[in-house]
Amino acid sequence: MGAVEKPRAEVAATAAWDYAPAPEARDIVSFERRYGLFIGGEQVAPRSRSWFTTISPSTEEPLAEVAQGGQKDVALAVDAAREAFRTWSRRKPSERAKVLFRIARILQERARELAVAESLDGGKPIKESRDVDLPLAAAHFFYYAGWADKLEYAFPGRRPRPLGVAAQIVPWNFPLLMLAWKIAPALACGNTVVLKPAETTPLTAMLFADVCRQAEVPPGVVNIVTGDGSTGAYLVREQGIDKVAFTGSTDVGKAIQRELAGREVSLTLELGGKAANIVFDDCALDQAVEGIVNGIYFNQGHVCCAGSRLLVQESIHDQLVRKLKRRMATLRVGDPLDKNTDVGAINSSAQLERIAELVQSGVEEGAELYQPPCRLPEKGWWFAPTVFTNVAQSHRIAQEEIFGPVLSVLTFRTPDEAVEKANNTMYGLSAGVWTEKGSRILWMAERLRSGVVWGNTFNRFDPSSPFGGYKESGFGREGGRHGLEPYLRFE
Ligand code: NAD
Repeated sequence: MGAVEKPRAEVAATAAWDYAPAPEARDIVSFERRYGLFIGGEQVAPRSRSWFTTISPSTEEPLAEVAQGGQKDVALAVDAAREAFRTWSRRKPSERAKVLFRIARILQERARELAVAESLDGGKPIKESRDVDLPLAAAHFFYYAGWADKLEYAFPGRRPRPLGVAAQIVPWNFPLLMLAWKIAPALACGNTVVLKPAETTPLTAMLFADVCRQAEVPPGVVNIVTGDGSTGAYLVREQGIDKVAFTGSTDVGKAIQRELAGREVSLTLELGGKAANIVFDDCALDQAVEGIVNGIYFNQGHVCCAGSRLLVQESIHDQLVRKLKRRMATLRVGDPLDKNTDVGAINSSAQLERIAELVQSGVEEGAELYQPPCRLPEKGWWFAPTVFTNVAQSHRIAQEEIFGPVLSVLTFRTPDEAVEKANNTMYGLSAGVWTEKGSRILWMAERLRSGVVWGNTFNRFDPSSPFGGYKESGFGREGGRHGLEPYLRFE
């Protein structure tokens, strides 16, 4: 009898699996040609008379013109927020809650439109904006609506009072979600806000202005001033603010801290990260591979808490890297509006340059680069999912935040060594631990200097769970009962 060829034990998972295109309807959102500033409940032309164009990073197509807020514009927005604070802060808390509930419901009703807008303006895959950004943004408003009339119970024995006008500055990686993280707790506590969206992703904030109108948010309670870093700097310098909540890079966070020194303005900073995703040899390896992929390639790695350093126990290094590379070959990179897309466009040409420069440094310092074969679209800004092996702790790719789809793999032998390497960073935002032993997860969590430690999962968010950093990742917490405190003073 001739030898019978055994069936292959596994299906070769390669990018050769073609899916038919599954585009989400682009025309569900129609942008206005121009968006003014949202001040006092109205869209107004900027006093600066200056505008800029926001473009889609996946096609380079211009989407709309947006106002570049100047100093006078920022002052007007702060005045409107001050004026509105007098009545909003005295409103019955259950009435404030109703407004937040209305916002949450409208976000759900308009979720598809907002998700498409987010993917068009920011480049992230529609399955992420649809299944993560929008549901979580609505959940934040629902969650904080629930707290609005229960603040006395949140802080027993203390008399919580709102601070006043909150200046809130957000980055471009989760534009609507970061807006929700900032605006929901501020309003629930009785503050009014001036929000400054990032310059490359202002459009969902402008659609949110329309949501405020629909939800009958009183004029001046939410104000939105678009523009670049100079607009943010004007806002921080305004004398009429009581609070600054900033999410963005560590350098800008430090500049804001310097600016506020000596002023009676409360500050919270959510800054960069270089998280360790730590894999022990007893873990469920295939699940860990999914967690590693989600940890670094979710939102093109434009995630402050991304698991950008993989610490793998030496005995399983080769097996894990093999599995990881095979999984990476199945990632679909391309049109953010296609429902099959896993990795979308890089947010801007400047960010693409930063990623490329750091990747080049990795090659020059001697790490070994792997990218699965994938065809990148010709227009727009793209970067293939990348993994570096043979990485030393001193390499720039192991120390600096890349904020792109680039993973650095390091090894360890003992739990103590894993902790030491994980903590060997100026950041401390998040970490992941993969092991079968619950006791080991707790042992590690006690020793890891990071605000969040995920056990056998990664990038999991919930409005009831606090999020924030240690060291140069910032201070203050967003989410949960902890997230109320930065918006309150106590009598
Ligand atoms: P960035 O600091 O350049 O910009 C963030 C925001 O600050 C933008 O709206 C920008 O216009 C504004 N800004 C810039 N200069 C300013 C100034 N001098 N004064 C006031 N505002 C100013 O950061 P980015 O490149 O937009 O975002 C990426 C960074 O954000 C990464 O480092 C990332 O880790 C961090 N991030 C952190 C979290 C978190 O929760 N910790 C979440 C998302 C992003």
